[in-house]
Amino acid sequence: MRYSHRHRFRYDFLLSLKSKFIVAITGGIGSGKTAVSDRFADLGIDVIDLDDASRAVVEPNSLALKKIGDHFGDAMIGSNGHLDRKALRQHVFDNPIERRWLEKLLHPLINEWTLLQLRAVQTMYAMVVNPLLRARGGYVDRILVVDTPTEIQIERTMQRDKVPIEQAQAIVDSQLDRAGRLALADDVILNEGSLIELSNRVKELHELYLVLANA
Ligand code: ATP
Repeated sequence: MRYSHRHRFRYDFLLSLKSKFIVAITGGIGSGKTAVSDRFADLGIDVIDLDDASRAVVEPNSLALKKIGDHFGDAMIGSNGHLDRKALRQHVFDNPIERRWLEKLLHPLINEWTLLQLRAVQTMYAMVVNPLLRARGGYVDRILVVDTPTEIQIERTMQRDKVPIEQAQAIVDSQLDRAGRLALADDVILNEGSLIELSNRVKELHELYLVLANA
């Protein structure tokens, strides 16, 4: 992602203030990122979710929301002044040029928001949940991939979101594939078993991250 000079300067400055060890969690839709990050949170670790970031940067009356309204039309903004995220998602889903326009607007803002949150971290290390992580670098010290066989991913998504199989499959197809994601991983949680197994693996990794954060 290419930043403007202004964003680059602010980003580099905020990055220079980062002091904590940061683990990014990534994984496809319904893979279990929230199930995993909730368990780290239960162990007392601060968790920052980029989904919250993507809402925060388009709050009512924000400059980014105004730019989205100007670009895509006011139909994207509901009568309550909030972004209609679903309408926008549908609009850019099959339109790579529009998607890139949106990413170029939002990514620098999301990164800045995240770095500001990271300054407030009180725990030994922190986790950032980033479903769209595609490269290493920036503020991330370690990457944890939640890996789930595609059939289970689709099944869990259908159950949770009450969506038909075609919709779940289309989202999976639009995301980075399993191999691509695993190529980014320092650590992997294979989430195909029970929630108890998941908790045990989280505890193991927590011990590792405490050591790495202290190193
Ligand atoms: P999204 O990217 O869509 O936000 P996610 O990666 O955060 O998804 P979760 O919401 O954590 O995925 O998990 C998807 C669904 O599968 C949830 O309903 C969750 O409770 C369930 N789930 C996750 N892991 C397991 C497991 N090991 N056993 C049973 N159910 C699970």
